[in-house]
Amino acid sequence: MFLFRVPYLIQFLFGKRQWKGDDLSCVYFTFDDGPDLRSTEWLLDLLNKENIPSTFFCLGSQIEKHPELYDDIIKKGHAVGNHTYHHEKGSKTSTKNYISSVQKTDALVHSNLFRPPYGRLTKNQMISLKKMDKKIVMWSWNSQDYNKNVSSESILKNAKLIKGGDILLFHNNSKSAKTIKQCLPEVIRIIKEKNLKFKTLS
Ligand SMILES: [Zn+2]
Repeated sequence: MFLFRVPYLIQFLFGKRQWKGDDLSCVYFTFDDGPDLRSTEWLLDLLNKENIPSTFFCLGSQIEKHPELYDDIIKKGHAVGNHTYHHEKGSKTSTKNYISSVQKTDALVHSNLFRPPYGRLTKNQMISLKKMDKKIVMWSWNSQDYNKNVSSESILKNAKLIKGGDILLFHNNSKSAKTIKQCLPEVIRIIKEKNLKFKTLS
């Protein structure tokens, strides 16, 4: 049993983070860890064709590897956010190193949106990020696209439970490339059948 929906208790306990979007007539697609060579170009074409503005939480190291793909994300009208430089795990990184990774990425990504890798942050890291005026964005529905033990059927079954205001977590990295190519067009169809619209986070 894999958890697609984040329990309300968790959302309540970590109330200083954003778990849902304000507009209940919309869903908010988010894509983490890119830009990458295996899926980003494909993804941008799909989002363009389906007319879906999305939010990309990018890694500084990946932007430096693929600056042209990052420029493309911006040019296509999507929003961007900071996802650290090397995908550091908060609990395993000192606050000083964590913040310096965020600052290094800030030089590349101009946004107040921040998503912690693995959803992990220590209390001190949280305090430092708030001082930097960062908005900590989580998700309410996790596609599990990186999880080899989760089948495409299971993702689509759980996509039927997506509702207005949901922040949807997907990835554009090498691990999830195959899965999102298989599932995302169908997930989009399911959401459009619910008459939900699409917005970026701000
Ligand atoms: Zn990530």
